[in-house]
Amino acid sequence: MMDSNRPLLEIIDLKVTFPLGKEEISAVDGVTFSLSRGTTLGVVGESGSGKSTIARAVAQLVIPKSGQIIFDGIDLSSLNNKAIRGMRARMQMVFQDPGGSLNEYMRVGKIITEPLLVHGLAKGKELAKRAEELLVQVGLQKEDASRYPHEFSGGQKQRIAIARAISLKPELLICDEPTSALDVTVQAKILKLLANLRNELGLTLLFITHDLAVVNEFCDEAIVVSKGKIVERGDITSVIHSPSHPITKELIASSYA
Ligand code: ADP
Ligand code: MG
Repeated sequence: MMDSNRPLLEIIDLKVTFPLGKEEISAVDGVTFSLSRGTTLGVVGESGSGKSTIARAVAQLVIPKSGQIIFDGIDLSSLNNKAIRGMRARMQMVFQDPGGSLNEYMRVGKIITEPLLVHGLAKGKELAKRAEELLVQVGLQKEDASRYPHEFSGGQKQRIAIARAISLKPELLICDEPTSALDVTVQAKILKLLANLRNELGLTLLFITHDLAVVNEFCDEAIVVSKGKIVERGDITSVIHSPSHPITKELIASSYA
């Protein structure tokens, strides 16, 4: 039975380190937070503060040194590889650089339906039909399925990456600076698309950015990270309008400059 009070995602004392010669750098140093279903949590911080590493740990792309990542009540460290693959279908990621995340030799229709093929959820004509549906859902054209990534603009490439990310109907979407590489006007359009999809699909979002103006518009709650630790957390109104940490104040100043 689904427990609707249970958070979709719980992170408990997460630590991630990377080797640096004989030393270790601590990228994430004891981070704890939870994310309720249907809400959007902003993860804010300066460059190098550990935001992407948190995202990658949640998506099982890096292995934590310690701590727990609990998705829908299941501790991910307790799962075998097959179960992890199943879990991956329930959480998907959108990256900052839309071009870099798309295989340039594959047609767009194939790119966005590859997850369905890999997970054995559709084949043949069904895949082609799903590709067209997904393209329309992200504001592109059915005909775009037969084109290649280089034929699209940065914003359109991000739409393609989003189409691929939603193809498996994930519950959690992890967005790592999804608009940071785009022009301001395009940023607004991509945010609008994500907001629409969030409503349509009932998505829960972990939304990483260095821009508090975007967080203000888009998120319910925020955590502010610095040097791998959470230095401030709260609902958007309190974080933006009565920040307590100097880092938050700096981020606000640079976001609204
Ligand atoms: P952010 O996304 O906030 O800019 P990151 O999570 O990318 O920060 O990086 C946090 C810290 O971890 C930085 O000091 C960065 O240099 C380091 N780091 C991130 N990924 C790696 C990696 N694959 N190997 C070594 N160091 C890394
Ligand atoms: Mg990053």
